[in-house]
Amino acid sequence: MYDRFIKEMIEMSCRVGQMPDYTQGGGGNTSVKFDDKLMAVKASGCKLCDITEKDGFVVVDYAKVRQYYKTVDLTEKRDFYKESSQFVKDNMVKLEGLNEGRPSIEAGFHSLLEKYVIHTHSVYGNLLCCTKEGESIAKELFENSQYRYLWLPYIAPGFYLTLEIQKQIELMGCIPNIIFMGSHGVIITAKTLDEAEKINDYVSQSIRKKLNITELYGDVSVKMESEGVYVSNTPRLIAYLKGKEYTDEWFDSNILYPDQAAYLLGEVTTKNAEKKARIDLSSGITKYYVSYKEALTLEESICAFLFIMDEAKKNNLETYTMKDEDIAFIMGWEGEAYRKAMLNKK
Ligand SMILES: [Zn+2]
Repeated sequence: MYDRFIKEMIEMSCRVGQMPDYTQGGGGNTSVKFDDKLMAVKASGCKLCDITEKDGFVVVDYAKVRQYYKTVDLTEKRDFYKESSQFVKDNMVKLEGLNEGRPSIEAGFHSLLEKYVIHTHSVYGNLLCCTKEGESIAKELFENSQYRYLWLPYIAPGFYLTLEIQKQIELMGCIPNIIFMGSHGVIITAKTLDEAEKINDYVSQSIRKKLNITELYGDVSVKMESEGVYVSNTPRLIAYLKGKEYTDEWFDSNILYPDQAAYLLGEVTTKNAEKKARIDLSSGITKYYVSYKEALTLEESICAFLFIMDEAKKNNLETYTMKDEDIAFIMGWEGEAYRKAMLNKK
């Protein structure tokens, strides 16, 4: 019954999921609304390009999720992060032939938006979202464009981010097509798939033009050296690293957005320490001591991070890092683990 929309969901997800400048590892998510009740949204932990008819997405009663956010009583102190994600889980609808999954933690904001939603951690979008000058550049580029845009300061993914987007939609009196989320990424939404992809492209191209980025991002890949050991195979990344003087502390103290923390924090070394990603700065080559899938995620994540640092520097943009408490929240650190992690960071 929903075949057409599921096909669109797969196509859309594959297109952005294949581009390492838009998504790294399992980051980013997409959704399609079938009607005024049901929505397909990417499953948590899954890669966008791995979505098939059977796997990688879940179906949620988004009308109920909308209703939840509209009526939630904030006066009572509760764990709204947990409650809201449980609510989404409880309102999943089992489609025949679809394997089970958990809805993305970002399913809440998908519920509030137009029929098609593409959310990525695009390196172009994040050049604005992770720099002090980004908000004014976004204004200059998109204020007078044919699309409505919204700029949000950082809010951790989940309940409060969805609540804020709901509030802004009410204030604007419309659903913005482009949402920049500080220290996080970009959401594009439209009534048709063509339009959503067009806007996604338009946003990236506008930023590329403004920041004078002419070179293509290029492929990102790793090759196998031996069982459980993979080697960097991305010319862009090798060039970023070769001859530089980066330290482990530099990698761990320049966390720009949540996925970078989730994938890279504490995992990168230039001193051949016992870590997952070991960089040899004299050759620029990184070796990964993990599975193929994880090696590729690490390669994509390091490349995206260094692209942002490099282009920001070229354009005299000042990057800002996430706050310690926001990183701790993303990493699920509490009490002792938090203190220990922060100690290691310094
Ligand atoms: Zn995100």
